[in-house]
Amino acid sequence: MRKLIYSSLFCLTSLCFAQEKSQQPTGEVALQRLMAGNSRFTSGQSIHKNLGLEGLSELKEGQEPFAVIIGCSDSRVPPEIVFDQGLGDIFVVRDAGNVIGPIELDSVEFAVDKLHCPLVIVLGHENCGAVKATLLGQENVPELDNIYPLIAPALKKCQAQKGDILMNAIKCNVKEGVRYLKSTPLIAKHIAANGLKVVGGYYDFDHGKVTIIPE
Ligand SMILES: [Zn+2]
Repeated sequence: MRKLIYSSLFCLTSLCFAQEKSQQPTGEVALQRLMAGNSRFTSGQSIHKNLGLEGLSELKEGQEPFAVIIGCSDSRVPPEIVFDQGLGDIFVVRDAGNVIGPIELDSVEFAVDKLHCPLVIVLGHENCGAVKATLLGQENVPELDNIYPLIAPALKKCQAQKGDILMNAIKCNVKEGVRYLKSTPLIAKHIAANGLKVVGGYYDFDHGKVTIIPE
């Protein structure tokens, strides 16, 4: 049974959110927990915990996810499966290209400030179609007209890098997402005051492995 301790309530008219007293792990411990889940996934030993109705009923009164994942909508990259986590474990924000616009930032801020998540991961992945399309140029991807401007600036920063152009671009897009998050006031405040950890990751399709991208 998950234990939530409510220390206060904040209310908007008749709608109240319970703010539980934080029992969250540190960001580093949260990262270790996620990576352990990814190791189970890559070794074919996923435990698929807390995926049934019993787990859901225990979460009825509230949630305390220990990590925020900003991932791509790509059907091959579901964070709950990649990190072998269950209901209530991770707070997931997904869009094509794992970009961070105003709506995604609001979602992350809510999870960090109100749910006390100690860890945020921006997760890119191998052969990302949104990043690949952006490399081709905006005129070739009219359906990504709102996403293109959020990816394109990051790609300019890695144009001179040697090696695989697409992989470099995907990692640059992730690093830009991490940099941006760290620059926003509320996230910066939680990094300084509460030790919030914000990192980038890269998921490969050959092994299903998530690698943390050095800053
Ligand atoms: Zn993608």
